[in-house]
Amino acid sequence: EERHMESTNPATGEVIDEYETHDEDDVEQRLDAAAETASSWADTSIEQRQELLSDAADVLRDGADEYAELMTSEMGKPITEARAEVEKCAWVCDYYAERADEHLQDEVIGSEPESKTFVSYEPLGPVLSIMPWNFPFWQVFRFVAPALAAGNTSVLKHASNVPGCALAIEDIFAEAGAPEGALSTLLIGSDRVDGVIADDRIRAVTLTGSEGAGRAVAASAGRNLKKHVLELGGSDPFVVLDDADLDAAIETGVQARTLNSGQSCIAAKRFVVHDDVYDEFEERFVEQMQALTVGDPMEEETDVGPQARQDLMEDLHEQVTATADAGATIRCGGEPLDREGAFYPPTVVTDVPRDAPMATEEVFGPAAALFRVEDAEAAVELANDTHLGLGASIWTEDLERGERLARRIDAGATFVNELVKSDPRLPFGGIKDSGYGRELSHMGIREFVNRKTVWVQ
Ligand code: NDP
Repeated sequence: EERHMESTNPATGEVIDEYETHDEDDVEQRLDAAAETASSWADTSIEQRQELLSDAADVLRDGADEYAELMTSEMGKPITEARAEVEKCAWVCDYYAERADEHLQDEVIGSEPESKTFVSYEPLGPVLSIMPWNFPFWQVFRFVAPALAAGNTSVLKHASNVPGCALAIEDIFAEAGAPEGALSTLLIGSDRVDGVIADDRIRAVTLTGSEGAGRAVAASAGRNLKKHVLELGGSDPFVVLDDADLDAAIETGVQARTLNSGQSCIAAKRFVVHDDVYDEFEERFVEQMQALTVGDPMEEETDVGPQARQDLMEDLHEQVTATADAGATIRCGGEPLDREGAFYPPTVVTDVPRDAPMATEEVFGPAAALFRVEDAEAAVELANDTHLGLGASIWTEDLERGERLARRIDAGATFVNELVKSDPRLPFGGIKDSGYGRELSHMGIREFVNRKTVWVQ
């Protein structure tokens, strides 16, 4: 059995650290701690749990520069975005530190003179979380903050290319005063996840990642009858109508495609543009994509860093190449940069056939597919022509029209005149092959609880 994990800086290709993976005894010990602490943690007051989150937010803010540098060195995101990610994690901790009590209050259904009925939200126990490398802090915090607030404990199986982040997150909770086992990391490969899901001590599972990982985890959770939530990929449409504010749509569109060097489930991926404004949109969009600064992610002025791993960059290039081979036109980018590291430039592809990879698959990198449509009806039809359903963005100056169309898009979220983003106050999740369940808000905190009916007569 392979006993080590490496983290590699994707900007240079250098191995920055090696970690010994956890063996069976380590995993045993961590699952035991998660289960033991689950019973005492469930008995703590909600105030005490909220206090822990508030302290975790302080630890995050105090160490922001250090955590940001760790993320950037392990997976290559631009440093300014890494710092913003740490702050967002502190925000979600603060959010649940302030609101968890309200979200978990008993829900009274009836108070007849002869009987009282209500729902109480009670913890489930240890929840396994399987997380991806793209937002190595945020993905974990947005799950774990509400999970801990609800009285659960959690074991984290993070992506194999970000072990440093995984251990740092464990330390953050320890420093904030969490009891041992409240949040612990398992340094294991994905081949050992099935065994952990099957373990009696694990009560539920959450995964953020690819469709393939989603199918494997759902099958395993199903076999073991464990509640699970899946947050998988997206192929979000960015619909620009004839009456859109083009300046705003283009500027935000570029940002929505290239944030996190294009590696976001809710990035805008398919640009669906009305014929009346298409030519101007394409020209200015290409210009602004080309004007982005690609380079060392540690530099403040960098807009786009390397892709997180060499193999992922190669997959992305394959999607672009196959789309061009199917008849599309590459307007800019389209070739890996000739330098050290997994750098792929901002790329715009037009005349994309409906069955080409960039139309049908999730494109995880700074490559945009542009589509021309005749009217709003055709825009909705194309926007919905995907097996995924995470987010969507619609641009129109007619807000009523925007709202009407928003309701017709098959997605877990639709934003009008704004890019799709996650926000602690708003539910987040998908439909179709993007997964099921919701994270964040009052809905997220109620995913991993026993919604217990109580009747008192
Ligand atoms: P994966 O989905 O493989 O990785 C996400 C997490 O799932 C990791 O912790 C991984 O562990 C784990 N995992 C993978 N396979 C299994 C399995 N069979 N059983 C249990 N756990 C598993 O993503 P990749 O890193 O391979 O990225 C590939 C593509 O997935 C991207 O190009 C993108 O399209 C999509 N993706 C989407 C994300 C999103 O936010 N929606 C996030 C990341 C990727 P390990 O690292 O050890 O393999």
